Amino acid sequence: VPRLTRNALFGLVTSRALERAVRAVPPVRRLTLRAARRYIAGERVDDGLRLTKLLLTRGLAVSVDFFGELVDDPEAARRASDDYVALAQVIRELPSEVWLAIDLSHIGLDVSADFCLEQLRRIAAALSPGRRIQIGAEDSSRTERTLEVVLAAAELGLPVMATVQANLRRSSVDAMRLVDAGVPIRLVKGAYVEPADVALPWGEPTDVAYVRLAHQIREAGGRLALATHDRVLRESLLSAFGRIDCELLLGVRNEDADDLVRRGLRVRFYVPYGDAWFRYFMRRLAESRGA
Ligand SMILES: Cc1cc2nc3c(=O)[nH]c(=O)nc-3n(C[C@H](O)[C@H](O)[C@H](O)COP(=O)(O)OP(=O)(O)OC[C@H]3O[C@@H](n4cnc5c(N)ncnc54)[C@H](O)[C@@H]3O)c2cc1C
Repeated sequence: VPRLTRNALFGLVTSRALERAVRAVPPVRRLTLRAARRYIAGERVDDGLRLTKLLLTRGLAVSVDFFGELVDDPEAARRASDDYVALAQVIRELPSEVWLAIDLSHIGLDVSADFCLEQLRRIAAALSPGRRIQIGAEDSSRTERTLEVVLAAAELGLPVMATVQANLRRSSVDAMRLVDAGVPIRLVKGAYVEPADVALPWGEPTDVAYVRLAHQIREAGGRLALATHDRVLRESLLSAFGRIDCELLLGVRNEDADDLVRRGLRVRFYVPYGDAWFRYFMRRLAESRGA
Protein backbone atom coordinates (compact mmCIF):
# COMPACT_ATOMS: atom_id res chain seq x y z
CA VAL A 1 0.00 0.00 0.00
CA PRO A 2 2.88 2.41 -0.59
CA ARG A 3 0.89 5.07 -2.47
CA LEU A 4 -1.97 5.55 -0.03
CA THR A 5 -2.01 8.70 2.06
CA ARG A 6 -2.46 8.91 5.81
CA ASN A 7 -6.15 9.79 5.58
CA ALA A 8 -6.93 7.11 3.02
CA LEU A 9 -5.26 4.53 5.24
CA PHE A 10 -7.21 5.69 8.27
CA GLY A 11 -10.34 5.11 6.20
CA LEU A 12 -9.28 1.52 5.67
CA VAL A 13 -8.78 0.93 9.40
CA THR A 14 -12.51 0.77 9.85
CA SER A 15 -13.05 -1.47 6.86
CA ARG A 16 -14.22 -4.81 8.18
CA ALA A 17 -14.46 -5.98 4.56
CA LEU A 18 -10.77 -5.38 3.99
CA GLU A 19 -9.87 -7.11 7.26
CA ARG A 20 -11.98 -10.13 6.29
CA ALA A 21 -10.46 -10.20 2.80
CA VAL A 22 -6.91 -10.13 4.18
CA ARG A 23 -7.70 -12.85 6.69
CA ALA A 24 -9.47 -15.06 4.15
CA VAL A 25 -6.56 -15.42 1.75
CA PRO A 26 -3.64 -17.12 3.52
CA PRO A 27 -0.82 -15.77 1.32
CA VAL A 28 -2.17 -12.22 1.66
CA ARG A 29 -2.53 -12.70 5.40
CA ARG A 30 1.04 -13.99 5.62
CA LEU A 31 2.43 -11.05 3.64
CA THR A 32 0.44 -8.52 5.65
CA LEU A 33 1.54 -10.14 8.90
CA ARG A 34 5.15 -9.98 7.77
CA ALA A 35 4.79 -6.21 7.26
CA ALA A 36 2.95 -5.86 10.58
CA ARG A 37 5.73 -7.67 12.47
CA ARG A 38 7.59 -4.41 12.83
CA TYR A 39 4.85 -3.23 15.21
CA ILE A 40 3.81 -6.45 16.93
CA ALA A 41 5.72 -9.06 18.89
CA GLY A 42 3.90 -11.92 17.15
CA GLU A 43 0.64 -13.79 17.36
CA ARG A 44 1.32 -15.84 20.47
CA VAL A 45 1.90 -15.01 24.13
CA ASP A 46 5.37 -16.58 23.92
CA ASP A 47 6.28 -14.06 21.22
CA GLY A 48 5.29 -11.23 23.55
CA LEU A 49 7.21 -12.68 26.49
CA ARG A 50 10.35 -13.39 24.44
CA LEU A 51 10.51 -9.82 23.18
CA THR A 52 9.72 -8.46 26.64
CA LYS A 53 12.72 -10.29 28.10
CA LEU A 54 14.95 -8.96 25.33
CA LEU A 55 13.85 -5.37 25.95
CA LEU A 56 14.40 -5.77 29.70
CA THR A 57 18.06 -6.62 29.03
CA ARG A 58 18.38 -3.19 27.34
CA GLY A 59 17.16 -1.46 30.51
CA LEU A 60 13.69 -0.82 29.14
CA ALA A 61 10.33 -1.17 30.86
CA VAL A 62 7.52 -2.97 29.02
CA SER A 63 3.74 -3.01 28.93
CA VAL A 64 2.39 -6.16 27.31
CA ASP A 65 -0.90 -6.02 25.47
CA PHE A 66 -2.89 -9.00 24.28
CA PHE A 67 -4.58 -7.55 21.18
CA GLY A 68 -8.29 -7.18 21.01
CA GLU A 69 -11.00 -4.56 20.95
CA LEU A 70 -14.70 -4.13 20.31
CA VAL A 71 -15.84 -7.38 21.94
CA ASP A 72 -19.55 -7.17 22.74
CA ASP A 73 -20.21 -10.81 23.57
CA PRO A 74 -19.91 -11.35 27.36
CA GLU A 75 -18.46 -14.84 26.97
CA ALA A 76 -15.78 -13.63 24.55
CA ALA A 77 -14.97 -10.72 26.86
CA ARG A 78 -14.72 -13.10 29.82
CA ARG A 79 -12.37 -15.36 27.86
CA ALA A 80 -10.20 -12.36 26.96
CA SER A 81 -10.10 -11.45 30.65
CA ASP A 82 -9.11 -15.03 31.51
CA ASP A 83 -6.21 -14.68 29.08
CA TYR A 84 -5.17 -11.47 30.81
CA VAL A 85 -5.39 -13.18 34.20
CA ALA A 86 -3.07 -15.89 32.87
CA LEU A 87 -0.74 -13.23 31.47
CA ALA A 88 -0.72 -11.42 34.83
CA GLN A 89 0.32 -14.69 36.45
CA VAL A 90 3.03 -15.43 33.88
CA ILE A 91 4.69 -12.03 34.26
CA ARG A 92 5.03 -12.56 38.02
CA GLU A 93 8.41 -14.14 37.34
CA LEU A 94 9.56 -11.02 35.45
CA PRO A 95 10.74 -7.75 37.02
CA SER A 96 8.08 -5.33 38.24
CA GLU A 97 8.75 -2.98 35.31
CA VAL A 98 6.63 -5.37 33.26
CA TRP A 99 3.05 -4.10 33.28
CA LEU A 100 -0.13 -4.89 31.38
CA ALA A 101 -1.84 -2.75 28.75
CA ILE A 102 -5.55 -3.24 28.06
CA ASP A 103 -8.23 -1.68 25.87
CA LEU A 104 -11.40 -1.89 27.92
CA SER A 105 -13.57 -2.79 24.91
CA HIS A 106 -11.59 -6.03 24.77
CA ILE A 107 -12.79 -7.01 28.25
CA GLY A 108 -16.42 -6.02 28.05
CA LEU A 109 -16.78 -2.24 28.09
CA ASP A 110 -19.46 -2.63 25.43
CA VAL A 111 -21.26 -5.27 27.51
CA SER A 112 -21.56 -2.90 30.48
CA ALA A 113 -19.38 -0.74 32.69
CA ASP A 114 -20.01 -2.97 35.72
CA PHE A 115 -19.13 -6.12 33.81
CA CYS A 116 -15.94 -4.50 32.52
CA LEU A 117 -14.95 -3.29 35.99
CA GLU A 118 -15.44 -6.79 37.32
CA GLN A 119 -13.10 -8.18 34.65
CA LEU A 120 -10.55 -5.51 35.46
CA ARG A 121 -10.80 -6.39 39.15
CA ARG A 122 -10.10 -10.05 38.37
CA ILE A 123 -7.06 -9.16 36.28
CA ALA A 124 -5.72 -6.76 38.90
CA ALA A 125 -6.12 -9.44 41.58
CA ALA A 126 -3.80 -11.71 39.60
CA LEU A 127 -1.16 -9.02 39.23
CA SER A 128 1.74 -9.02 41.66
CA PRO A 129 2.34 -5.79 43.64
CA GLY A 130 4.24 -2.89 42.10
CA ARG A 131 2.79 -3.25 38.62
CA ARG A 132 0.19 -1.25 36.80
CA ILE A 133 -2.51 -1.79 34.21
CA GLN A 134 -2.33 0.83 31.50
CA ILE A 135 -5.77 1.45 30.07
CA GLY A 136 -5.85 2.42 26.40
CA ALA A 137 -7.90 5.32 25.06
CA GLU A 138 -10.21 4.17 22.27
CA ASP A 139 -12.50 6.10 19.92
CA SER A 140 -14.42 9.06 21.35
CA SER A 141 -17.71 7.14 21.68
CA ARG A 142 -16.00 5.15 24.45
CA THR A 143 -14.09 7.98 26.17
CA GLU A 144 -16.63 8.76 28.91
CA ARG A 145 -17.34 5.10 29.69
CA THR A 146 -13.63 4.29 29.78
CA LEU A 147 -12.99 7.20 32.13
CA GLU A 148 -15.80 6.09 34.42
CA VAL A 149 -14.44 2.54 34.66
CA VAL A 150 -10.91 3.84 35.29
CA LEU A 151 -12.12 6.17 38.05
CA ALA A 152 -14.19 3.39 39.62
CA ALA A 153 -11.18 1.05 39.44
CA ALA A 154 -8.98 3.68 41.10
CA GLU A 155 -11.54 4.09 43.84
CA LEU A 156 -11.34 0.35 44.47
CA GLY A 157 -7.57 0.74 44.79
CA LEU A 158 -6.73 -1.03 41.52
CA PRO A 159 -3.36 0.07 40.08
CA VAL A 160 -4.62 1.63 36.87
CA MET A 161 -3.00 4.21 34.63
CA ALA A 162 -5.14 6.16 32.16
CA THR A 163 -4.42 7.32 28.63
CA VAL A 164 -5.41 10.86 27.66
CA GLN A 165 -5.65 11.83 23.97
CA ALA A 166 -4.44 15.37 23.35
CA ASN A 167 -6.58 15.73 20.23
CA LEU A 168 -9.89 15.41 22.10
CA ARG A 169 -11.46 18.72 23.05
CA ARG A 170 -12.69 17.23 26.35
CA SER A 171 -9.27 16.05 27.50
CA SER A 172 -8.40 19.04 29.66
CA VAL A 173 -11.43 18.35 31.87
CA ASP A 174 -10.85 14.58 31.83
CA ALA A 175 -7.21 15.01 32.80
CA MET A 176 -8.23 16.98 35.89
CA ARG A 177 -10.73 14.30 36.90
CA LEU A 178 -7.91 11.75 36.70
CA VAL A 179 -5.42 13.93 38.57
CA ASP A 180 -7.98 14.55 41.34
CA ALA A 181 -8.44 10.79 41.65
CA GLY A 182 -4.66 10.25 41.82
CA VAL A 183 -4.58 8.27 38.55
CA PRO A 184 -1.31 8.57 36.57
CA ILE A 185 -1.70 9.67 32.97
CA ARG A 186 -0.06 8.50 29.77
CA LEU A 187 -0.38 11.39 27.35
CA VAL A 188 -0.76 10.56 23.64
CA LYS A 189 -1.70 12.60 20.57
CA GLY A 190 -4.66 10.33 19.74
CA ALA A 191 -4.83 7.62 17.10
CA TYR A 192 -8.47 7.78 16.00
CA VAL A 193 -10.11 9.81 13.25
CA GLU A 194 -12.77 11.86 15.03
CA PRO A 195 -15.40 14.42 14.04
CA ALA A 196 -14.32 18.07 14.14
CA ASP A 197 -16.65 18.99 16.99
CA VAL A 198 -15.02 16.30 19.14
CA ALA A 199 -11.36 16.56 18.22
CA LEU A 200 -8.73 18.99 17.02
CA PRO A 201 -7.16 18.36 13.62
CA TRP A 202 -4.01 16.29 13.44
CA GLY A 203 -0.82 18.37 13.32
CA GLU A 204 -0.15 21.69 14.98
CA PRO A 205 -3.46 22.11 16.89
CA THR A 206 -3.03 18.66 18.48
CA ASP A 207 0.65 19.31 19.19
CA VAL A 208 -0.16 22.58 20.97
CA ALA A 209 -2.86 20.81 22.98
CA TYR A 210 -0.31 18.14 23.93
CA VAL A 211 2.09 20.73 25.36
CA ARG A 212 -0.68 22.55 27.21
CA LEU A 213 -2.07 19.34 28.69
CA ALA A 214 1.33 18.17 29.84
CA HIS A 215 1.86 21.45 31.71
CA GLN A 216 -1.66 21.44 33.09
CA ILE A 217 -1.29 17.93 34.46
CA ARG A 218 2.08 18.65 36.04
CA GLU A 219 0.96 21.95 37.54
CA ALA A 220 -2.02 20.17 39.09
CA GLY A 221 0.40 17.68 40.69
CA GLY A 222 -0.47 14.76 38.39
CA ARG A 223 1.83 11.93 37.41
CA LEU A 224 2.57 11.94 33.71
CA ALA A 225 4.30 9.84 31.06
CA LEU A 226 5.05 11.21 27.60
CA ALA A 227 3.89 8.66 25.03
CA THR A 228 4.96 10.25 21.77
CA HIS A 229 7.56 9.73 19.06
CA ASP A 230 7.57 13.45 18.31
CA ARG A 231 11.11 14.42 19.28
CA VAL A 232 10.42 18.16 19.36
CA LEU A 233 7.52 17.72 21.79
CA ARG A 234 9.41 15.24 23.92
CA GLU A 235 12.61 17.26 24.17
CA SER A 236 10.82 20.51 24.94
CA LEU A 237 8.79 18.86 27.68
CA LEU A 238 11.83 17.07 29.09
CA SER A 239 13.60 20.43 29.28
CA ALA A 240 10.61 21.88 31.11
CA PHE A 241 10.09 19.03 33.56
CA GLY A 242 13.46 17.32 33.96
CA ARG A 243 12.95 13.64 34.66
CA ILE A 244 9.77 12.22 33.28
CA ASP A 245 8.89 8.77 31.95
CA CYS A 246 8.80 8.31 28.19
CA GLU A 247 6.89 5.67 26.25
CA LEU A 248 7.27 4.29 22.74
CA LEU A 249 5.33 1.91 20.56
CA LEU A 250 7.17 -1.16 19.39
CA GLY A 251 8.58 -0.49 15.93
CA VAL A 252 8.33 3.30 15.98
CA ARG A 253 11.54 5.32 16.34
CA ASN A 254 12.85 2.71 18.73
CA GLU A 255 16.36 4.01 18.10
CA ASP A 256 15.48 6.89 20.45
CA ALA A 257 15.20 4.55 23.42
CA ASP A 258 18.86 3.90 24.11
CA ASP A 259 19.68 7.60 24.16
CA LEU A 260 16.85 8.30 26.62
CA VAL A 261 17.95 5.41 28.85
CA ARG A 262 21.54 6.70 28.80
CA ARG A 263 20.21 10.05 30.02
CA GLY A 264 18.73 8.27 33.04
CA LEU A 265 15.11 8.36 31.90
CA ARG A 266 12.72 5.49 32.24
CA VAL A 267 11.51 4.30 28.84
CA ARG A 268 8.52 2.02 28.53
CA PHE A 269 7.75 0.03 25.38
CA TYR A 270 4.25 -0.97 24.37
CA VAL A 271 4.56 -4.59 23.22
CA PRO A 272 1.39 -6.05 21.69
CA TYR A 273 0.83 -9.64 20.61
CA GLY A 274 -2.14 -11.70 19.43
CA ASP A 275 -3.92 -12.51 16.22
CA ALA A 276 -6.21 -9.46 16.22
CA TRP A 277 -3.42 -7.26 14.88
CA PHE A 278 -5.02 -5.96 11.67
CA ARG A 279 -6.67 -2.74 12.86
CA TYR A 280 -3.70 -1.84 15.00
CA PHE A 281 -1.36 -2.37 12.07
CA MET A 282 -3.48 -0.17 9.79
CA ARG A 283 -3.42 2.65 12.35
CA ARG A 284 0.36 2.42 12.61
CA LEU A 285 0.74 2.26 8.85
CA ALA A 286 -1.41 5.37 8.47
CA GLU A 287 0.71 7.20 11.04
CA SER A 288 3.90 6.28 9.25
CA ARG A 289 2.73 8.46 6.33
CA GLY A 290 2.81 12.23 6.06
CA ALA A 291 -0.42 14.25 6.08
C1 LIG B 1 3.08 4.04 24.46
C2 LIG B 1 1.99 4.56 23.58
C3 LIG B 1 0.68 4.23 23.86
C4 LIG B 1 -0.35 4.69 23.06
N1 LIG B 1 -1.65 4.43 23.41
C5 LIG B 1 -2.65 5.02 22.71
C6 LIG B 1 -3.99 4.90 23.13
O1 LIG B 1 -4.31 4.25 24.12
N2 LIG B 1 -4.96 5.53 22.39
C7 LIG B 1 -4.66 6.27 21.29
O2 LIG B 1 -5.55 6.85 20.67
N3 LIG B 1 -3.38 6.37 20.87
C8 LIG B 1 -2.38 5.79 21.56
N4 LIG B 1 -1.09 5.92 21.13
C9 LIG B 1 -0.84 6.44 19.76
C10 LIG B 1 -0.80 7.94 19.71
O3 LIG B 1 -2.05 8.50 19.99
C11 LIG B 1 -0.37 8.37 18.31
O4 LIG B 1 -1.36 7.96 17.42
C12 LIG B 1 0.96 7.83 17.86
O5 LIG B 1 1.87 7.73 18.90
C13 LIG B 1 1.59 8.72 16.77
O6 LIG B 1 1.73 9.99 17.28
P1 LIG B 1 3.12 10.60 17.80
O7 LIG B 1 2.88 11.24 19.12
O8 LIG B 1 4.16 9.60 17.78
O9 LIG B 1 3.39 11.80 16.79
P2 LIG B 1 3.46 11.81 15.20
O10 LIG B 1 3.55 13.24 14.84
O11 LIG B 1 2.40 10.99 14.59
O12 LIG B 1 4.83 11.08 14.91
C14 LIG B 1 6.10 11.68 15.11
C15 LIG B 1 7.05 11.00 14.14
O13 LIG B 1 7.23 9.65 14.51
C16 LIG B 1 7.31 8.84 13.37
N5 LIG B 1 6.20 7.89 13.39
C17 LIG B 1 5.02 8.00 14.03
N6 LIG B 1 4.28 6.90 13.86
C18 LIG B 1 4.99 6.09 13.07
C19 LIG B 1 4.77 4.79 12.55
N7 LIG B 1 3.64 4.13 12.80
N8 LIG B 1 5.72 4.22 11.80
C20 LIG B 1 6.87 4.88 11.53
N9 LIG B 1 7.15 6.11 12.01
C21 LIG B 1 6.23 6.70 12.76
C22 LIG B 1 7.22 9.73 12.17
O14 LIG B 1 8.52 10.03 11.77
C23 LIG B 1 6.53 10.95 12.72
O15 LIG B 1 6.88 12.11 12.02
C24 LIG B 1 -0.05 5.50 21.92
C25 LIG B 1 1.27 5.83 21.66
C26 LIG B 1 2.29 5.39 22.47
C27 LIG B 1 3.70 5.81 22.16
